[in-house]
Amino acid sequence: MKYAVAIDGPAGAGKSSIAKEVSKRLGFIYVDTGALYRTVALYLLNNGIKADEIDKIEEALKHIEVSMEHKEDGQHVFLCGEDVSHLIRTEPVSMMASTTSALPVVRKFLFDLQVQMAEKYNVIMDGRDIGTVVLPNAQVKIFLTATAEDRAKRRMLEYKAKGQEADFDKILEDIIKRDYQDMNRATSPLKKAEDAILLDTTGNEFSQSVELMMNTIKSRLSI
Ligand code: C5P
Repeated sequence: MKYAVAIDGPAGAGKSSIAKEVSKRLGFIYVDTGALYRTVALYLLNNGIKADEIDKIEEALKHIEVSMEHKEDGQHVFLCGEDVSHLIRTEPVSMMASTTSALPVVRKFLFDLQVQMAEKYNVIMDGRDIGTVVLPNAQVKIFLTATAEDRAKRRMLEYKAKGQEADFDKILEDIIKRDYQDMNRATSPLKKAEDAILLDTTGNEFSQSVELMMNTIKSRLSI
């Protein structure tokens, strides 16, 4: 039997950095599903396809190949064989991913890949609909959140650390817009699964959030 920990929550709550550290400690594979939606979005942006051009997106999906590899330094995502792990971490890609992930064709396209990962490995998988749709039978479900201001602050520091331009007001505005889009779409909206545990990381140091998640998982999995 495989263990699965499903982590959902809004953008910037710390899902990926906390889950990455926790999965290292538990020896689980960390699967960042947002990277898959970002990879599709990158292809669409690169090919000048707009989010409302549904026919073109459907056609494009026939040519898009998305895959993942888990290496020493974490997850890498590939678009038609090219490692795009860094190219997908920009604001335009974030926004395009949020808009196009509302489309059922895009969600269907990426569904199997996510389920297959959980069939093969013990996983900590993060996203928006992991506990509700992708892995409804996960042994542990966590809904990780924090205030929008706190999340925008963290995103800004991440961009600055990478030497990218960062404007707090713009990031906050984008986060609020993305929250709205993610929570109000018809297909697989972001919401807490009924049996998910709510963890709020507002004001936490990284190490506090890691401990909180470790303790929550350990108490549920008895490992
Ligand atoms: O997690 P991340 O911010 O990288 O995700 C980018 C976008 O992809 C999100 O805003 C969300 O719209 C979408 N997404 C999703 N379902 C997931 C993971 C991400 O709809 N499981």
